[in-house]
Amino acid sequence: MSSPSLFDELQSQHCDIQPEEGLPRLQRTYQCRCGNAIFFRNSFCLNCHSALGYEPYLGKVIPIDPGSEPETWTVGVQIEGAAALYWRCANVKTAAACNWLIPLSGVDNPQPFCKCCRLNRTIPDLSIPENKSLWASIEMAKRRVISALIALRLPTESRVTEDPQRGLAFDLLRSVDSSHRVLTGHDDGLITLNIEEADDAKREQIRKRMREPYRTLVGHLRHEVGHYYWDRLIDGTQNLNAYRELFGDERADYEQALKKNYEQGPQPNWRSLYVSSYASVHPWEDWAETWAHYMHMLDTLSTASSVGLRADSVELSVDPFTSAALYQDGVDKECFLSLLNSWVKLTAVLNELSRSMGQPDFYPFALPYATVAKLHFIHSVIRGDHS
Ligand SMILES: [Zn+2]
Ligand SMILES: [Zn+2]
Ligand SMILES: [Zn+2]
Repeated sequence: MSSPSLFDELQSQHCDIQPEEGLPRLQRTYQCRCGNAIFFRNSFCLNCHSALGYEPYLGKVIPIDPGSEPETWTVGVQIEGAAALYWRCANVKTAAACNWLIPLSGVDNPQPFCKCCRLNRTIPDLSIPENKSLWASIEMAKRRVISALIALRLPTESRVTEDPQRGLAFDLLRSVDSSHRVLTGHDDGLITLNIEEADDAKREQIRKRMREPYRTLVGHLRHEVGHYYWDRLIDGTQNLNAYRELFGDERADYEQALKKNYEQGPQPNWRSLYVSSYASVHPWEDWAETWAHYMHMLDTLSTASSVGLRADSVELSVDPFTSAALYQDGVDKECFLSLLNSWVKLTAVLNELSRSMGQPDFYPFALPYATVAKLHFIHSVIRGDHS
């Protein structure tokens, strides 16, 4: 029997988060039909050699068999909610090596690319051999990030093929020369990512230069996606006033704020107010950094939960946050608090494990009290109706 997902666990704690019918779960480990453990990134089983595909609407990696028509696939075992027939994403054959499935049942014009790959507006120039492996790393990180957004039922329509006005899209680019550097950022639904960030040595160099404790591809993607959801879930909505109370007024001059940070560094007291120094630059960056942090928490806790790792079985005492730290108008208070305190405990353990291996801290952050209400606000906004 597979372990319960985070959503199951939250439900078992009598929280308000019910896995609605058809709600995909954020889970990272699964079981093949042969009983072997399989993981989110697998495209075939190392034990029984079954082909595997990720079903983004069910949130599961499942064994698949070739269908009667060319390029079609059927589900290899009985799985509730699965479609009768699938395509594999067209990127299964490219360097992106995408393992996602595209359901064909009831779809008039199925798209050749999966829910995640169809977000790409521009992909790197693959005639340059090095770009292939950089792109592969980015797509792997992107699948992890996007699968969580789908599981949370956040809008993830492609700006390229589904919603040209409000959808999301990616330009994955590489600087042609040093005078034309590609800048990673978000602008009105379009996320640009400099693919050199996928080069470990280069990314580490930048991390050191910027004095950041943490710089990863999933971190970049979660941050930029956070800006997109600010546009979707905060701007022009009833959430805007509460956002301004917690994060500050985003109408403050953004260019000026970036310039000040560049020249003078972050606010001296940032450690007691923000999840990161960059969050102190401007209320928009605070939102994006805190959003990314919430996604780190949720994904990692889900993974821990799906392998049966529970904070309450850990023998370590930490000072728990109390409900006084929460966003008072927020939802799922008990639930969120339990999630947050599990996170504090789990990360303390993971840091100590990393130190045993001589690795940098798994979680090089300390959550200040003032960020708890912001994280809870984000949780509440995500739990709200955003159809
Ligand atoms: Zn197997
Ligand atoms: Zn794909
Ligand atoms: Zn940003």
